[in-house]
Amino acid sequence: MDQRLGTEARPARIAIIGAGPAGFYAAEALLKQPDLACTIDFFNRFPTPFGLVREGVAPDHQSIKAVTRIYDRIASNPRVRYFGNVTFGTHLHHADLKPFYDQIIYAVGAQADRRMGIPGEELEGSFPATAFVGWYNGHPDFRDLPVDLSCERVVVVGNGNVAMDVARILLRSTDELATTDIADHALALLRESKVREVVMLGRRGPAQAAFTNAELKEFGELEGVDVVVDPAVLELDEHSLEDLEDDKLASKNVELLRAYAARSEGSAERCLFMRFLVSPREIIGENGHVKEVKIEKNQLAMDGYGGLRAKGTGVFETIEAGMVLRSVGYRSVSLPGVPFDEGTYTITNIAGRVVNTSDGEPIAGEYVVGWAKRGPSGVIGTNKPDAVSTVTAMIADLATLPGIRDENRALDKVEAMLRKCKPDYVTWEGWKRLDQFEVARGAEQGRPRVKVTTVPEMLEIIDTSA
Ligand code: NAP
Repeated sequence: MDQRLGTEARPARIAIIGAGPAGFYAAEALLKQPDLACTIDFFNRFPTPFGLVREGVAPDHQSIKAVTRIYDRIASNPRVRYFGNVTFGTHLHHADLKPFYDQIIYAVGAQADRRMGIPGEELEGSFPATAFVGWYNGHPDFRDLPVDLSCERVVVVGNGNVAMDVARILLRSTDELATTDIADHALALLRESKVREVVMLGRRGPAQAAFTNAELKEFGELEGVDVVVDPAVLELDEHSLEDLEDDKLASKNVELLRAYAARSEGSAERCLFMRFLVSPREIIGENGHVKEVKIEKNQLAMDGYGGLRAKGTGVFETIEAGMVLRSVGYRSVSLPGVPFDEGTYTITNIAGRVVNTSDGEPIAGEYVVGWAKRGPSGVIGTNKPDAVSTVTAMIADLATLPGIRDENRALDKVEAMLRKCKPDYVTWEGWKRLDQFEVARGAEQGRPRVKVTTVPEMLEIIDTSA
């Protein structure tokens, strides 16, 4: 019988750390390999799977969440197991896993936020948008974020889709939000919200914005909301005009912004003010709480690499605001025992193969996918081709890997290890019990689900309904 790794006689044992979109697409790509025999074990920090699809995608974008049906099918494959409520680096370490897996894939995403590095970032009422997103999505780490919506104006820094998401959730009618799976605590606070204005700050111009057309267009369709843009910022410089010629996304954004500039003056009950060419320089507080944001007007300058960067003009202004959401990008955090590049905030890798940060030497049998591999870019679907390319490298490596000892191939050895280090681990069946509970609670209210937002509560439901 063929004794090579990845054959029926010696199926490859593969661990995936993180059960978000990138991890599921990696599993899918592995299961689709025609000549590969393998088993796949997911280890996930929370009892609940799906990462950013559950904890990041906005609750009013339910159609994006339908992708979990595909992940469900993958997890139901008999060659796949799920161990939730197990944190790599806390309950389970690199050295614990190595004896049991021929190949390990890190699919841990980007859990932290990037900083702006300006005074006042730490004031009460100044939050990373990533935390605010977690708060309204029922992420257990952020459910107790001290959000206060008793102010009339919120400043959102950044011009990406996350900035769009948080601004929209602040301004959208709560009757509409009430039909989604938004966390109950967030819905209750938003119902009492006094926020009437969101001011979004883009450090560069309208032609350089990172948000996509659909997200910008959606804002114009929100009931009771005006999008206000100063027509003067749409008089673009020659470099931006040149860039628009071969950038369809940017030229459509500019077209939509021109339509907003022509139609709205901000008379609606709630308004999004889109400011461009401005950078926050300081968040000013009173009694430790956000009170104002000092901004500087920018102009565009060539960055020396063919792009345009923002350059301060020395002209300042202050905007009164009760809350600031810093939406300037996510970043990955390092995992114990796994090489990490502090420059790019990614797991050090070459095309998905984990390598030593110091000398670039590959670490046998270790791989990375998704945001932990390439940084926080792209939409959910971007993770699919990204995972396929890492899996291609994994297949190519199989022939040269020594593989684990054969006595460690017995699948129950992993469960035995988990019973010692994290006895309350959650299986896929356990998650499905919680899933059914949430969906049933949602059905009573005409919502897709009502989320459980603390881990102890999740575990209780999983166990009690066993
Ligand atoms: P992003 O698209 O990279 O946008 C980050 C924004 O922050 C950019 O406008 C950037 O401006 C700005 N920025 C960075 N540093 C700044 C600073 N110091 N001061 C002021 N502005 C600063 O990141 P994101 O919005 O976090 O989204 C992450 C990824 O998830 C993106 O690929 C996004 O498309 C995706 N996503 C998609 C959806 C959706 O499909 N609906 C929803 C949410 C997120 P510069 O361009 O000048 O650097």
